[in-house]
Order: sequence, then C-alpha cells, then structure tokens
Amino acid sequence: MTTDRSARTTETPQDQPAEVSNWDIVNHYFDIATERLELREDIAAVMRSSYREVQVQVPVSLSDGKIHVFSGFRVQHNGARGPYKGGIRFHPEVDLDEVRALAMLMTWKTAVVGIPYGGAKGGVNVNPRELEQSELQAVARSFMDKIEKVLGPTRDIPAPDVGTNAQTMAWLMDEYGKLHGHTPAIVTGKPIALEGSQGREAATGRGVVYVLEEIADELDMSFDDMTFAIQGFGNVGSWAARILHDKGAKLVAVDTVDGSIRSDAGIDPHRLDEFLFSEEGDITDFPDSESTSKAEFLATDCDVFIPAALGGMIHEHNADLLNCRVLLEGANSPTTPKADSILSDKGVYIAPDVLCNAGGVIVSYFEWVQNLQHFLWDEAEVNGRLEKIIKRGFREVAQKCEDEDIPPRIAAYELGIERVVEASRTRGYIA
Ligand code: NAD
Repeated sequence: MTTDRSARTTETPQDQPAEVSNWDIVNHYFDIATERLELREDIAAVMRSSYREVQVQVPVSLSDGKIHVFSGFRVQHNGARGPYKGGIRFHPEVDLDEVRALAMLMTWKTAVVGIPYGGAKGGVNVNPRELEQSELQAVARSFMDKIEKVLGPTRDIPAPDVGTNAQTMAWLMDEYGKLHGHTPAIVTGKPIALEGSQGREAATGRGVVYVLEEIADELDMSFDDMTFAIQGFGNVGSWAARILHDKGAKLVAVDTVDGSIRSDAGIDPHRLDEFLFSEEGDITDFPDSESTSKAEFLATDCDVFIPAALGGMIHEHNADLLNCRVLLEGANSPTTPKADSILSDKGVYIAPDVLCNAGGVIVSYFEWVQNLQHFLWDEAEVNGRLEKIIKRGFREVAQKCEDEDIPPRIAAYELGIERVVEASRTRGYIA
C-alpha cells in the first residue's frame, strides 16, 4: 500500500468535520461580498454558477481482479480572466458539491493575487491510501482519458491537491501526451525531471509564510519567539512548518489523520517529515513528543494556528478550543462561517484561504509560463517573484480592510469578484 498523506478519521463531535459543506461555506462569503458590492442579482447568478461541470466514470482493474468504478469530476467555474486552473484531489469523499465549491474559490483566488487564470477544480472519489502505485497510475490515466477533451494548455490546466502529487501530474501529462503530443504545459506541479518548476513543491507552504511575514509586521510579532501548531502535515503543512522553523519559529503541535503530537520544547519538522515519509513511522511514536487527543491539539496555546488539512475542520463545536492569535488558512475552506465568527469575536486575526494559500497557484503560473517558453528559472527567481505577488495581494486586501473596516476574507472576496466582473464586462459577457 502507498503511504499517502490524506484521509479522514472521526472520533468525537469536536473532531468531526462540520455539517456545512464547502459549497455552503464559499457561498456564505460570496453572498456577503456581492451584497456589499451591490452586485445585480442576475450578474451574481452568473458569477456563482459554473461554466462547465463534468462527471465521468473512472473504471480501473485493481489487484483483487475486479473492475472498480470510481467517479471523476472536473468543474470549470469561470474563465473570464484566463484559462481554467485548479488542482485534482484524490479522496474518498470527493463529490460534485465539494469540487464545485473549490473551483469557485480558485476563481476568486487567482483574481485576488492578479494572475491571468480562471478557476477550476477536479477530483476522483478514490482513497489513495488503499491503492498500490500501479493502481493509482491506472486511476490517473483513466481519469485523464475521460476529461482530456475539456482540458488544454490554453483551456484548463490541472495541478496537485489533497492525495495527488508530482508523480500523479507526470502520469496525467504522459496520458495527455499520447493523444496530443508532448505538452508539458497541460499540468503544473510536475516533477523537476519533466519540466516542473523549481520551488513548486514548497510553494503553497512558502506563500503561507510570506503572508505571515506581513501579518507579523502588522501585529508586531517576531518569528524568534513565535510558536505555531499545524493541522495536516502533507504538502502544504509540512512545507509551511519547515520554512517557519528555519525562520526561528517553534512548532509545538501537529495533527494528522493518524494522530496528534505536542512538545513544548518544539518539534523539528524536517525530522518529522523524514520520520513519517522516509522511515514510515507512526506519528504518535515520534521521539520527544507526547501523543494528544484532537481536542488537546486544537487547544494548543500558540501564536499561530495553521489548518492545512481538509475543509470544514474548524467549526462551531470546536472553534472555541483554539488558543491562538493568528489563524493562517493553508487549507481551502477550513473554517466554517460560525467558527469564523467565534474566532473573530475572540480577537483572532484570520488570514483567509483565498489569499493565504495562493502560493501554489502562483508558482503553477510560473511553471506554465516556463513550459510555454521552454525556459527554466532558478529557485531564487521563483521564490522572489512569489514573494512579490503574494505580498502585493496581501497589501491590497489589507488596504481595503482598513478603508472599509471589513475583515480580510470579505475584502479578498470583494476584490476577486470585482476583478472577474470587470473582465466579464470587458469581454461583453455581461452588460
Ligand atoms: P496532502 O494530501 O499532501 O496532505 C493532507 C494532510 O491532511 C495530511 O497530513 C493528512 O494526514 C491531513 N488530514 C487529512 N484528514 C485529516 C483529519 N481528519 N485530521 C487531521 N489531519 C488530516 O494535501 P495538501 O496538498 O497539503 O492540501 C492540504 C490543504 O491545502 C487542502 O485543503 C488543499 O485544498 C489545500 N491547498 C493545497 C495546495 C497545494 O499546492 N497542494 C494549494 C492550495 C491549497
């Protein structure tokens, strides 16, 4: 079996994901933003709905000798600002509702940080933890065969998300190439050996840290005496943790689907990454740390709490446990509207997903640009450009918050929606 970094367990109501769906969450904020913008109802209806939603069967022969039929989805939400862009998720609970919500979020995200893409998302309702590598490859190829007609390097460009990685992107690119010829710009987040970009693997976590640098300036916090807790130690969480640790901050608690640990003396995230993924250790056996319950993990006293797992993990039944000054949303839609209110009332600064985790799509954009030009940038150039773009996005959102006395999430949604409306008007899609 593969050692994948995702899945979902449940223990008590506090540990369970929220009852509201990702679609409810993004629509809640969309409604607030469009009302404040006084957007005409018919235009809001265009902005809310997807351009195209594709559901396909993904039949794959597994090692039990049987054909298993998974469901695959690709939702293209809005392409007014450029080609559709968004990740592919492999997770047993993927459904159309979730993919549609994540696609909409991508539309606002690319607009907030000002990169020339629309929003999309995809997924297959498969549990990668239960499949061999060869079986996962078969799922990826079968999925690509079914959706390639709606993709293309100037049309729709997938990337990794929960349960997928650079290897998955390599299979997708190869399968697309069998039909269309070698086309590296069809997916981003590829391995470096296949025209992936330097800095892409760490990009989302690095972007989260760049956003925190700006917040720390605003709140007068220093990395040297900062403590942080991470929920989810996959691509986003592990990179954010490693980069923050290297800047002097102390990781005091980690939660994954397989358990939670805490150490007041600090957890070395480089060592934890090696322990979990090279040595295939069980997180609860990690040396010099104690295993905790999910509730204890959530209640960790820390300066910064970084959700980097799934949507709806912080909700009305557990938000009150959080004991942090800043909530930095590495994950998409980790905080339900009720949890958002509870935390805001406690004075927690919430850095919203739509800005905070945009580092991944920004560096995906760089990868695509390099692929189209068949040119390679070094890592310093990638990181430098990422920093410039995400910090510009932060400052634009912060300025709007100050001017209009609104929280960052609403400011970010408004900025994103306004830009998509403007592009749609200029194209002549809406009057
Ligand atoms: P991943 O598959 O690499 O890691 C997911 C992590 O979440 C794993 O550590 C897993 O153990 C943990 N997890 C899953 N269920 C859990 C549970 N019930 N309790 C605690 N931990 C749990 O995924 P990723 O790519 O790091 O994505 C994480 C989040 O960040 C998702 O919301 C994704 O949409 C978002 N995101 C990812 C990227 C990217 O570039 N990969 C970009 C933007 C946003």
